[in-house]
Amino acid sequence: MSALSKTATDQTALKLTQLERGYKFSHSVIGESMLRTSELQVLLHGLIDTLLAKGITTEAELFTAMQIVRDELAKRDELDWQRAMIRKDATEDNKPVAEVDCKGRLHLCKSACCKLDFALSVLELEAAEIKWDLGRPYFIRHDSGGYCTHLDWATGGCTVYEKRPGVCRNYSCSKDERIWLDFDNMKLNHEWIDANLSGISELVLTDVFMHDRTQLQAAAEQEPSTNEVSP
Ligand code: SF4
Ligand code: SF4
Repeated sequence: MSALSKTATDQTALKLTQLERGYKFSHSVIGESMLRTSELQVLLHGLIDTLLAKGITTEAELFTAMQIVRDELAKRDELDWQRAMIRKDATEDNKPVAEVDCKGRLHLCKSACCKLDFALSVLELEAAEIKWDLGRPYFIRHDSGGYCTHLDWATGGCTVYEKRPGVCRNYSCSKDERIWLDFDNMKLNHEWIDANLSGISELVLTDVFMHDRTQLQAAAEQEPSTNEVSP
């Protein structure tokens, strides 16, 4: 073995170091974000209380303005993007599902079901057998074509069949109208599939800005204190 080659132990140690670094980074970012969020909360509440106390606005006006912003964000699909999702299975999820002859249908469906999106459960995450999308925790990971990364393209089979997620275990396309317009007559729902399963979900990124409160405080200290509202 060359002096430069890495043993399996070295590789494992490297991975653990990377994991540790990743956790430290995540925790420090989360901690910092929480601090900033608390500060923003304090600032915002103080601001609103001041505006209300001075009669500059009313609660009704504030609620209306909030609803307008909320509706606008919802329209742009930006309300929930940053939330990590974990699947909570209902108890009846283990009921038997209708068997489907996949081999006889693959030439039509092209494994469309393995493009569907779902979050993993806590048990699946802890088992660490199934890959999740690092850009959208904890959804199943898709490749650039929109397929689950555990799909074997050559055979259309599942490479983690024995350990596949509960969602896959309990799924049957026989009653799924997103996939089949007419299951018995093998009529695929091309329209829905093309519109919804044609690629990997885009990452939603956003610009973040933050006021420097020390500057605000310095400016406030220079201003003469007054309770009068300018006309
Ligand atoms: S869409 Fe239905 S037939 Fe096609 S692979 Fe999935 S379960 Fe099998
Ligand atoms: S885990 Fe297997 S069955 Fe489930 S979506 Fe991925 S490839 Fe399909």
